[in-house]
Amino acid sequence: MRRMNEPQPVTLPHGANLRCDTCQNELFEQHRWKLQTTGMTFMNLDWANRDASCFVCTVCRRIHWFHL
Ligand SMILES: [Zn+2]
Repeated sequence: MRRMNEPQPVTLPHGANLRCDTCQNELFEQHRWKLQTTGMTFMNLDWANRDASCFVCTVCRRIHWFHL
């Protein structure tokens, strides 16, 4: 049985593999975070009414997140 959030390479919508900005690693844990208007206005994220896909670098733990 596959573990949740197993590190894996991430292909972005434009076809390139995601690479960590900080350490160039290409394996990420994936999380999907609900972005809903309620409660997000304090961050000026009214536009973010969809899920955010968050990829956490397995090496340096940097979060890369995308509005997919
Ligand atoms: Zn990294």
